[in-house]
Parts: sequence; structure tokens; C-alpha cells
Amino acid sequence: MNCEEVRELVHAYADGELDVARSVDFERHIANCESCAAALRNVRALKPAIRGSYYAAPDDLRASVLRFPSSPDGVRQSGGLPAAERRAGSWLLTGLAIAAALILGFFVGDAFLRRSANQNLLAEITDAHVRSLAANHLADVASSDQHTVRPWFEGKIDFAPPVEDLATAGFPLVGGRLEYLRGRPVAALVYQRRKHFVNLFIWPGDHVTEIRDEKPQRGYNIVHWANDGMTYFAVSEISAPELRQFARDFTTALSH
Ligand SMILES: [Zn+2]
Repeated sequence: MNCEEVRELVHAYADGELDVARSVDFERHIANCESCAAALRNVRALKPAIRGSYYAAPDDLRASVLRFPSSPDGVRQSGGLPAAERRAGSWLLTGLAIAAALILGFFVGDAFLRRSANQNLLAEITDAHVRSLAANHLADVASSDQHTVRPWFEGKIDFAPPVEDLATAGFPLVGGRLEYLRGRPVAALVYQRRKHFVNLFIWPGDHVTEIRDEKPQRGYNIVHWANDGMTYFAVSEISAPELRQFARDFTTALSH
């Protein structure tokens, strides 16, 4: 893992969401990289602060905020508060506002980073798809036989991607090849639909379980799902409903 990948995963790691293999990679990097280790410490320090911010305010804090007049009228009606108490209330509100802004900023920044990481991945997936079509390099192992394609990956990547021929569902298997996404080798399976091709990228991990449409990239549709410890991204010029059908057919074939 490089620094960029570690930064993308730092929240997932702090939340204990990474699988064992990626946790090991993550920890190996952190052990040798002080700046990523510092990023992890920051995230860990912020998490309890954010959780803590949802606790109910202590009674005396509540009372002093509620007592603080909201308008000059209120001051007169309530007979007014001593100036010192008003100043204390005002500092308290300023402090709360700053804390709220910091916490909001943290969430917005976090969401932004996650979104841009996802956007980069979708762009890489689309590039890989376009490259495979343009270079006429769909497969390193060209075979419609899953029993030929599956063992071909052995020794080339450190996981065993499931391979299913979906000819009966109208998506015959064309072959498989290695791809590099985010600097890591992943499995790519190629399927045909009429004159079109579907690239199915597979690697270990399972963040999303249901089949989900991703934002189309440069006219290509992308669906994303996870199943049994593997993450899948399918990309193609076929329509989104057809691509979702492909995802369902693949999942169904796996369960048989
Ligand atoms: Zn680093």
C-alpha cells in the first residue's frame, strides 16, 4: 500500500472495517511511515470527540443556555441578567458554535475525500475498460470455459476470483486478464453481450452488498456490488438495466 491508499482507508481501518489482509498491509505501511501514522492518530483522536458531541448537555450548561436571553426584549421581561453572567453565556455559545463548525467541517471534509476517492476509482475502471477495447486486448487467457479461466489466475494474484460462464443467461464468457486498479493487481473477467463487452473487475473486500448503479463515466455504465468477501465492478456500454441483470445473473450462478 502507498500513502494515498492508506489515507483512503484510514477511516475504515479506525472503524475496524478492513479485512485481515488489508489490515496487515495497512499496519505494515503505518509502521514505516510517520506521516500516515500521524493521520491515523488524528482520526482516532477525533472519533470519540465526535461521538461525545451527541451526548446530552449537562444540566447546568442547559440551564445557562436556556436562561440566556435571545432578544433585548427578553432581557427586560426577565428583569435582565447580571452582565458577568451574560458574558459567560455568550462565551459559552461562541464556544459551542466553534465546536459545531469544527465537527461539521470534519464530516464535510471526510465525505469529500471519500467521494473523490470513489470518483478516481470509477475513472480508473472506465479507463481500463476503454483500453481493453481499444488495444484489442480483452483477455490474457481467452476461453469460454470457466475451468480454464479460473486456474489461470492462480499464482498471479493472491486471491481466487470466482469465474462463471453466463452463456445461458446471454452473457458468454470471453476470458480473463490481470488489471491494475489503485496500484493493485485485480482480476478482470470479460463477457460478451451481442456485439458489446462487459469488463468485470474483482478484488477482495465487501463494503456494498446490494447491486448499486454508479455514476456513468464517459457514456459507460458501471454497477457495483459485493458478495461473499469479494467486491465487483462491472462496466460496459450496454444499458444500466442490462448491466444490473448481468450482476444478478452472476450472483445467481455463484450460489448454484
Ligand atoms: Zn505513508
